[in-house]
Amino acid sequence: MYDQSTIAFFGLVFHGLFAIVYFTLWLSNREHVAGLGYWTINLLLHVIGRIVVLTNISQTTQIGAVVGNLTTGIGAVLFYFGLAAFTKTSIRKSFYYSFVVVLGIASIWSTCFLENLYIRSIVADIAILFLTFRYLTLLWKNRNASHWYRRPFMVLFLVYCVLAFTFIMRTVFDASALYNGELLPAFDSPQLRISQLFALIVLSIVNFSILVLSNNALLKDLANDSLEKDKMMDKLKILAERDGLTGLLNRNAVEQYLDNAVEQAKSGCRCMVTLVDIDNFKQINDTCGHECGDLVLVHLANIFSTSIRESDMVGRWGGDEFLFIHKEITPEQAADLVHRLHEAVDSFDWANAIHNGDTSVSISSGFTTCSPTESKRDVLRRADLNLYLAKENGRGQAVGP
Ligand code: GH3
Ligand code: MG
Repeated sequence: MYDQSTIAFFGLVFHGLFAIVYFTLWLSNREHVAGLGYWTINLLLHVIGRIVVLTNISQTTQIGAVVGNLTTGIGAVLFYFGLAAFTKTSIRKSFYYSFVVVLGIASIWSTCFLENLYIRSIVADIAILFLTFRYLTLLWKNRNASHWYRRPFMVLFLVYCVLAFTFIMRTVFDASALYNGELLPAFDSPQLRISQLFALIVLSIVNFSILVLSNNALLKDLANDSLEKDKMMDKLKILAERDGLTGLLNRNAVEQYLDNAVEQAKSGCRCMVTLVDIDNFKQINDTCGHECGDLVLVHLANIFSTSIRESDMVGRWGGDEFLFIHKEITPEQAADLVHRLHEAVDSFDWANAIHNGDTSVSISSGFTTCSPTESKRDVLRRADLNLYLAKENGRGQAVGP
């Protein structure tokens, strides 16, 4: 139906277009998709090789056929280099350079010195089979490398399986013809047309799969980038709202939380606020050192966060002060909770925790209700006043409404 030159022309157009697409991809994405350079050169060599074969200048010496087929062969080796680069597989390139040299010698010998084209065909069959099995091994080994590549790898694997099967059959056919003493003087036959059409289809599927691979490699990088950014954002968020020493919410975060609670109190939600300050903390710092003072702050933060209810919130208000916000709580329950906090601090084994037997730690607290008509400032002022009263009354105690 179609003659050889029509099929060859479509092959050229197809692969030429692929080469342009690959080259454009390589220009802008070579850091993201390893192997693109090799694949682009492979397509260029393929196109050049086909052109040389088609426009075979010297029909007698067949130089065009040798040069063309060898160029395509080098392209096929580079395709393998591309696959290896893409899958980060280390290969011995020198071995493949030697393969190209051997292939060159075999091509020249079979094309220029032998009349029977079956031998030339067998040389090509063996070279194609060897490379196809290299591709298959690499694809199979990397089939589970990443879910982003699994499907295009499987498509490539299937296509090359079909190709391998076809070329095994062709080798058997060529070898048996040679064995039976048959002579093939010219390649132009209906079988050749079918095999060229078949090669065009196979190579088009291969190149489409490689495009999908490149696309997926870019998507994979994009997804990883966005995951990294999410992690970074989470870290920044923690840094922005946590106190570096105690790990509790910092003043900014606590104020936001309090704004919310005061707003909710206006619509009838019960809420209490407790301000806690360490007694004589300066003295603790002076007698056992600043690092020991830091340790006291860390232990207190642990005691506080494990003593409160799930609906309560505690943050570091500044220096040696901590602010608690209790939601859905009655003044009696709040008094109970603050009492429990004091007990937890008093019963803690401070001598062991800060390695200093002489230092005792106690806290004073002032707690108050958020009434629906009050502002945040009013609530804080009253909590502070109650704390002041607790200090005035001799420290180590809680004063509430
Ligand atoms: P009072 O019982 O009246 O509260 O006496 P105080 O000594 O605790 O006095 P005040 O609360 O005013 O002192 C706070 C001290 O806390 C002053 C400062 O040196 C110390 N401080 C503030 N931040 C830190 C910190 O991050 N680490 C340590 N080790 N000390 C801190
Ligand atoms: Mg203090």
